[in-house]
Amino acid sequence: MKLCRFDDNRLGVVEGDTIRDVSAALDVLPAYHYPLPKGDPLIANLAAVRARIDEIAGSAPTVALSGVRLLSPVANPSKIVAAPINYQAHIDLDLMDKEIAYKHEIAHISNAGLFLKSATSLVGAGEGVGIRFPDRRNDHEIELAVVIGSEARNVSEAAALDYVAGYAIGLDMTVRGPEDRSFRKSLDSYTVLGPWLTTRDEAPDPSNLALRLSVGDDVRQDANTNELVYPVPKLISLASAWYTLYPGDVLITGTPAGVGPVVDGDVMRCSIDGLGTMDVAVRNL
Ligand code: MN
Repeated sequence: MKLCRFDDNRLGVVEGDTIRDVSAALDVLPAYHYPLPKGDPLIANLAAVRARIDEIAGSAPTVALSGVRLLSPVANPSKIVAAPINYQAHIDLDLMDKEIAYKHEIAHISNAGLFLKSATSLVGAGEGVGIRFPDRRNDHEIELAVVIGSEARNVSEAAALDYVAGYAIGLDMTVRGPEDRSFRKSLDSYTVLGPWLTTRDEAPDPSNLALRLSVGDDVRQDANTNELVYPVPKLISLASAWYTLYPGDVLITGTPAGVGPVVDGDVMRCSIDGLGTMDVAVRNL
């Protein structure tokens, strides 16, 4: 199932160029009391929501996909986990300006570990990226994004994919500069997730997906997830060994070679095999 959130927090099922508005299925979500449980309520209750969707989809109203504003398919992740330097060509080609010592002794994910981005940086394709510091270089990073489906703690690589709700395209936007990584990547709108969530049962094998990002006619990034230094199961296992993963947590898996700057007026066309294509506009704030 391809699940999207659109316009005024509507819930939709994507079928080709059409969206079935199944917002009524959200009525199965439990009534919450303070304090809220950790994680995203929709993803935590995805099985019940999907069962309700199956009941109502046939009579649900439809809208044209081209006419809606796509929001992040996950509204309330407890955290965004990100993998640095997870494609060797990205290290070799994009990070050549780093000191040799850094490149060879620290610049491996086994030493670097993972990092976190602010959950409030998350937006959908239709919201676009807002540049707060146009005098600095602002880079695109396309990444396969994994949405965690159930609470995961110390899971093995063999079992890791059982904890996945689905997959989407991720953009890990970055302000270049000397500050700490999470600081430069946590600005509002600097994580884009979309165009929708493709649930695990309908998603292709995450270990062999072509991903591509273009700006205008310029193909900037063109790679395959089979080049990941740490594949998806290893990333989930590693993350869950250090902290509990909750339903709706977003794991972005690292960017391949070809990161580059975007400026006001650019549109990033992002595609991943089987997960869709999204156009993301860049504007100065
Ligand atoms: Mn990244």
